[in-house]
Formats: sequence, structure tokens, C-alpha cells
Amino acid sequence: MATNNLISFPPQGNGPRLKNKTLLIPEMNRIGAHLLAATFRSFGARARVMDTYKGMDLGKEYTSGKECYPCQVTMGDILYFIEEEKQSLGDSFNPGDYVYFMPEAEGPCRFGMYNKYQRIVLDSFPGLQELQIISPSNSDAYSLGDILEESEEQDFRKTAYFSMVVTDILERLLWKIRPYERDPGMTDTFIQRSAKSLEHAFQLYGRRKLFGKIMDKLGEIVKEAKSMVDPTIPSKPLIGIVGEIYLRMHEHSNQNLIRVLEKHGAEVVNASLCEWVNYVSYDGLREARKEFLLNLKKLRVGPMMDSVKKILDFGVDLLYKEFRQKKVYKEVRKLIDIPEDHKISHLEHTLKKDDLFSFDLSTEACLSIPSIVEFVKGGYNGVVNVYPFTCMPSMATSAIVKPFLRNLKMPYLDVPCDATIQPGREATIRTFMYQAYQHFSLDIS
Ligand code: SF4
Repeated sequence: MATNNLISFPPQGNGPRLKNKTLLIPEMNRIGAHLLAATFRSFGARARVMDTYKGMDLGKEYTSGKECYPCQVTMGDILYFIEEEKQSLGDSFNPGDYVYFMPEAEGPCRFGMYNKYQRIVLDSFPGLQELQIISPSNSDAYSLGDILEESEEQDFRKTAYFSMVVTDILERLLWKIRPYERDPGMTDTFIQRSAKSLEHAFQLYGRRKLFGKIMDKLGEIVKEAKSMVDPTIPSKPLIGIVGEIYLRMHEHSNQNLIRVLEKHGAEVVNASLCEWVNYVSYDGLREARKEFLLNLKKLRVGPMMDSVKKILDFGVDLLYKEFRQKKVYKEVRKLIDIPEDHKISHLEHTLKKDDLFSFDLSTEACLSIPSIVEFVKGGYNGVVNVYPFTCMPSMATSAIVKPFLRNLKMPYLDVPCDATIQPGREATIRTFMYQAYQHFSLDIS
């Protein structure tokens, strides 16, 4: 997929901070970043996906080594982009022409600090103070109020969410077909081409919310993908991946984990992109309810009304997302048996039932732990937890699920990643897959 597909639109429809500026999107999930950029472009923004992982040396140079690995990677991405842009534009390079998109999350994690740290680093270079960073936050469900016109924000959010659902579907299709493809490499080529055509569809139809047109295209893609399967290849062990979202999604950072697993005989299902986005709305709703009850107890009328508004905002947002996601999966599952995505309320229910962790503690451990339980119930043959080295929620996940899975004799692998290549990594994955094959043979015997 081309990365520098900058398409200029008339500057109408841009919020105050985007007027005549280029919005720089970091590439966490390759397909997702390009569909999001296409959605922004359809709303009139000049959006561009930055190359990723080419600036790792810069990322390492301008971090101390104590930061989370995704912070290093994204730091490198923005610095590399600036270097390249300076070289190609020369004297006409103006940092004030760019806005860097780096969302954040409040909570016990360090994700909320990435943009602040990156601001400090950018400010240390002459002139880069002019390069703005916009950081939508999970505290208001990633509101985009200050970058798009208010009248367009709701439509944009709907289309952007739809682009994430489509990203998940396209990836699930890839993982479903690639292990059984007739000719090596054909699925990758096909999915790349399909992602490109969906990118055009989002750019063309996104702003008008002509989702039906995009669904038609997706349907054609699914039908064609099915024809690539070699029916003589026997079923393979099914491996579920959980963990920290950036590492799960970013192939360079996880050193192509899914491909390595497939190379050793797996069929893989990675947790979805929408899982985190739905969780943000769910958690917002949960917190607003708690806030309401506290205000009610203390008879604070004004704050109580604020909580009611938050409950409505987060509740409607979550309902819409669940409705849209369910609708798309229903249509696609008529054509191919890809796994459905779970509702976050279902994950909380699972956690409570097994008393393994609490949503009150928040973070991605709330998603990873019950997802693992669901993998076990769903007949998977192994679980991989991938995360940045020292990532707190993922290590909590690991500590909690290991004894649980050991009792069930379910193969489990932790994959902590940093920018180094671990010498025994492939041997570890091969051993894990050997265990998964044993689990699989017991299942079918
Ligand atoms: S989830 Fe892990 S990697 Fe991400 S900010 Fe938190 S500790 Fe760092």
C-alpha cells in the first residue's frame, strides 16, 4: 500500500486546527491507518499516513529507554517524517503546515504521556514548536471537537468507526485464508489490493455515509478471497492473540508474529481493533454511572445532571458502535465463517463469573484476560500474549492467566517485544506450536 498518497481537497469542512494543514497519521495498524486517513480526506482534511519503523534509530536516540516501546516507535516515525520532508521540500518546509495525530488515554498507563513527551522533544528542535500535536482522549471517547467542524463530528465518528470494523473484517479474512492459500503469497497480494480499493471507497463515500456501497465492495472481496483456498489443506491448530493493542497491530514491532506462527502451522485470530474503541465507550459509561450514584448519594443535583449527560453520551455512542459492528459481521458471516467479535459487557460478565480480575482496575488486562477465557471455551488450541517489554497491564494478564491455563493444559506463550531480535524467539514459537499441535490432535481424536 502506498504511504504518500496525499490528495488535496478544498479546505472546507476542516475544524480550526486543520485549516490548510496536513494531518499526519501514525501507522499502528497498516490497513486501519490508511482507511482512517481516507476517511479524514473524505471530510476535506489533507490526511497522510507516515512511514513507520524507518526512524527507529531516531526513536531510540530521543528516548531514554525507560519509555514504552510504542512511544519509541512513534517518536521515530514523526522525527523520520520531518527529516524526510525537510529533505524533499528544502527551504519551503514549514513545520506549521502539519498537525500530528497522537491520541492518548487517561488511566494508570503511560500512553497518556506519549504526546506530552513527544511535545518536549519536538520543542527542543528550532522551529518545530510550530508543529501541532492533537491528542483526542479516552476521557471524552476520543472527541474530535477541535479538529473538525462541530456539525461534521458525529458523521466523521460514524465513518471512522465503520472504517475500523472494515479493517477488522479484512484482517480476519486474511488470517482465515492465508494458512490455506493455493499459491504462497496470493492472499497478501490480494488483501493489499483490496485495502487500496477500500481506501478509495472510503474517500469517495465516507463523508456521505454511503456504507452500503462500501459493504458491496467488501462483499465482492470476501467472495473472491474464498476462491483462493486450497480445500485439500487440512485444518490447523487455532491460536488466539491478546495483548497490548499497538504491539498486536504493528507488524514491525511484533516482528511479524502472526506470520511466524503461521509458518509453524497455525491459523491465527488476533484480538480486534474495535475491541479497544468499544471498551473506551463502555468504560466511560461505567464510570459515568458510578459518578451518578455517588452524586445521588450526596444529593448533588448539578453534578448529578452532568453525570446523566455523560451516561447518555457514552451510552448512545456504545449502542451505535455495537449496532454497526454487529450489522457488518452479520452480512460478512453470511459469506464466510470468520469469528465474531465479542461485546465488552460480555467480557466483564466473564471476568466476574470466573473472578479473575476487575473492570474497576481498567487497562487492557480487562480485555485480554476474559478474551483468553473465551478462547478456551471456543476450542482454541493455544494463546499468545504479545506486549511491549515491561508493559504493566500485559504482565498482570500473564501473571493471572498462567496458572489458570496450566490447569487446563492449554498452551500459552508470552511474547514481550522491544527493538532487539531475541535469538531464541523462533525456537520458542516452534515449541509453542508443537504443544498447540498436541492439543489440537487431542481435540480431533
Ligand atoms: S499499555 Fe503497556 S505499552 Fe501501553 S502505555 Fe501502558 S504500559 Fe505502556
